[in-house]
Amino acid sequence: MTGKNFLLAALEAISHNIIEHEEELNHLDNAIGDGDHGTNMASFSRIILTDLPELSESNDDLGKILHHVGMRCITEIGGSAGPLFGKFYLQAGQSNTNNTTMESANWVLAFEEGTLGVAQIGRSTEGEKTMLDALFPASRAMQEALEEGLSLSAIFQAGSEAAKTGVEFTKTISASKGRAAYIGQRSIGHQDPGATTVLLMLQALHKTAIKMNVE
Ligand code: ADP
Ligand code: MG
Repeated sequence: MTGKNFLLAALEAISHNIIEHEEELNHLDNAIGDGDHGTNMASFSRIILTDLPELSESNDDLGKILHHVGMRCITEIGGSAGPLFGKFYLQAGQSNTNNTTMESANWVLAFEEGTLGVAQIGRSTEGEKTMLDALFPASRAMQEALEEGLSLSAIFQAGSEAAKTGVEFTKTISASKGRAAYIGQRSIGHQDPGATTVLLMLQALHKTAIKMNVE
């Protein structure tokens, strides 16, 4: 079971991991888009890092914390990643309304609902070379790990491994959604930046779960 301390530590770790990879994400987006994905996600992450002390004082409702993160992403961040990742956090928050703790099942549900939220507003699905090629497989792998009765850190590990496979898969297909769709077949061979961000998020969650020894 996890509480506010874990959620805030996880948000902090996710933010740092994204900021550390800002240039790599820009570089990936440069090849198939407009080169701003790292800048977009790193400015969002810096805003969240600034908000953390206040969140830690003011709110025990984990759903509200996730909702806050989603609203920040939607209102402050440019590009399509703003509304898409924003929706992910909003839906993750909605699936945890009034929760002051999150069990493994709550985390898995948060990922599932968040993923469906992205697909809904992106009018997109798997196989289109987007963040969904990491989110859907990760969400399924986490569900399976939950059903096997694994610990939360093993659930995040399973999600992270599935996201990694998904990221590799994006290299093999052409884009039919987002800016990369403009170059169609020429996007083959390049890795999707949004899917890479999902991998960074799951790697940070996995590390935080190990570090804080959560069950
Ligand atoms: P922009 O493309 O507006 O410059 P970003 O560069 O920040 O925004 O984000 C690009 C990422 O957004 C892509 O790598 C892809 O993963 C994701 N993306 C774009 N369009 C969609 C969509 N319709 N559904 C899901 N993900 C999308
Ligand atoms: Mg871009």
